[in-house]
Amino acid sequence: MTASRSTTNSGLAHAGTAGPRRGVRAQGGSARGADQGSAAATMEPMAEDRSTVVVVEDDSNIAELVALYLREAGFTVHLTGDAAAGEEAVRARQPDLVVLDIGLPGTVDGFELCRRLRAWSQVPIVLLTARDDEIDRVLGLELGADDYVTKPFSPRELVARVRAILRRSTAPAAEGPAVHVLGSVTVDAGRREALLDGQPVALATREFALLLHLAENQGLALSRRQLLDSVWGHDWYGDERTVDVHVRQLRKKLGDGLPLATVWGVGYRLG
Ligand code: CA
Repeated sequence: MTASRSTTNSGLAHAGTAGPRRGVRAQGGSARGADQGSAAATMEPMAEDRSTVVVVEDDSNIAELVALYLREAGFTVHLTGDAAAGEEAVRARQPDLVVLDIGLPGTVDGFELCRRLRAWSQVPIVLLTARDDEIDRVLGLELGADDYVTKPFSPRELVARVRAILRRSTAPAAEGPAVHVLGSVTVDAGRREALLDGQPVALATREFALLLHLAENQGLALSRRQLLDSVWGHDWYGDERTVDVHVRQLRKKLGDGLPLATVWGVGYRLG
């Protein structure tokens, strides 16, 4: 579970050496070059932009690019290259989030470091997984990781996920559950209710949960696998087509008023 997980290739989506995996990066290939220079700079500033992120990744190419994007998005970034330095940095810096590569040099890999951090810290953890490997993914989530990104990934997507997690973890409890307005659809988390043009629409429990999860991650393309993990639970061993079935129901019940896009080769994006 150690050296074999390391990857010598760059794990970045636009590096060109790894190629699209399972079609995940099939879209947007032509925009990739342009993204690298300007994407992070054009992101809107947010309240948590002063947040601190510790990155644990031994591949300096990946680490530097991740750091570049996070810094351009306004985060303070500390780079570390192995588990011992990573754990020390988390203790010393008390970061708002940790980006943790699974394939680390030495005897402690990302899984083990995740487990060790969870023994004393609730800091949100995003795993970088080298493969779209179900065992990696499930193990990572079981060990307490909050999310994962599969290499090759775009730095932009990673920044979006980091922001989504920080939004969730820093939302003041007193504010109460959110109300999301998407096109002519309103998703009320507190009342567990969906409205179309102000009129309640009857949704099955899982349909509502899926809609709410998509709404909470507005603007992010979510894979069927990630939707299954989040909405059905990662111990739910079912077919990814289950997601499609529920999406079809949502579209049928909420119609064109719901800005729910199919992202080819990935999954779905709301808003
Ligand atoms: Ca690595």
